[in-house]
Amino acid sequence: QKALNGPPHQGTAGRRPAAGRGGGGAGGGSCGEELNGGQFSERVLELLSGPDGEIPEEIMKLDPKIVEQVSNEILDSSAGDIQWDDIAGQDAAKRLVQEIVVWPMLNPQLFTGARAPPRGLLLFGPPGTGKTLIGKAIASNIKVKALFTIARCLQPSVIFIDEIDSILSARKAEGEHESSRRLKTEMLVQMEGCDPKSSGCRVLLIGATNRPEELDDAARRRLPKQLYIPLPCPLAREQMVLRMLRGVGHCLSAAEVSKVVAKTEGYSGSDMRNFVQEACQGPVRDALRSGRDVGGMQEQDLRPVNLKDFQMAQRAQKKSVDDGEVVRYEEYNEKHGAKY
Ligand code: ADP
Repeated sequence: QKALNGPPHQGTAGRRPAAGRGGGGAGGGSCGEELNGGQFSERVLELLSGPDGEIPEEIMKLDPKIVEQVSNEILDSSAGDIQWDDIAGQDAAKRLVQEIVVWPMLNPQLFTGARAPPRGLLLFGPPGTGKTLIGKAIASNIKVKALFTIARCLQPSVIFIDEIDSILSARKAEGEHESSRRLKTEMLVQMEGCDPKSSGCRVLLIGATNRPEELDDAARRRLPKQLYIPLPCPLAREQMVLRMLRGVGHCLSAAEVSKVVAKTEGYSGSDMRNFVQEACQGPVRDALRSGRDVGGMQEQDLRPVNLKDFQMAQRAQKKSVDDGEVVRYEEYNEKHGAKY
């Protein structure tokens, strides 16, 4: 069922969501007030209505079910507010992103012409290194996030497309479906329409990929800034360990923490998370083995996490990115990466 194409309804009475109405009902635009109001949930109305209290006309033309879905995505992802400090390491990337992306979006008057932000940004690097976290941190800074039409109505906004290679891959799979070809074309067209230099549009498109070399050339041109998000350095790994150990009883000395960190060369951020979680399970397993009732226990009833737990955890959680892959990312970075 298409959205009604009539002008946005008037007044506020019709804006109350009518549960289960779906947007349905015949009658075209003739009884627009009631039907338009019934198409969207209260959350969507609150998110998308402009200063005049009306939903912009472009959005009214979209399928209400899709508007609802996209808007739920917006609300859900902004629920997990990520701040820059939540991302360990990646200092250079964080600085560059703030300089070329966040400030221009917050203060577009200053960042025009030669200072205009790039029209797109590609974050690339091994899986689990914080690309998605960076996307979320940008969105949290800008406070809004949405997709194309909705994004334009909500600007400044950020569209973050994870694993963008899966949509915009250069590889012509045998018998590529007509539908995926169409999706690809539509994506490229929409991305073109988001260029801040030509349209003054303040929608930033960010793609993330673990396979940058598989991207379509056309897609790469639309994401001209390519930022390498490498595996975390020792300092970042140390921050991750210390942060995760906050609130957990442990008896590791600073020297032991350094030892743990030194043993995790090549671990990604998500490997580190799994590794520390695994180590923290050590005292729980011991308690279970000795037949204690873990159900009623508090943190202080468990023995502290120790170096041995980390040594055991190392067997369970190996690094997930192999050295050959890292070389591949570094070569790609040499060739295409933004220098900073
Ligand atoms: P990707 O680079 O594949 O998008 P994510 O950003 O989704 O990786 O990271 C997956 C998880 O790993 C995060 O939710 C977080 O728990 C952890 N992680 C990865 N990188 C970092 C980092 N730099 N700082 C803190 N946690 C991280």
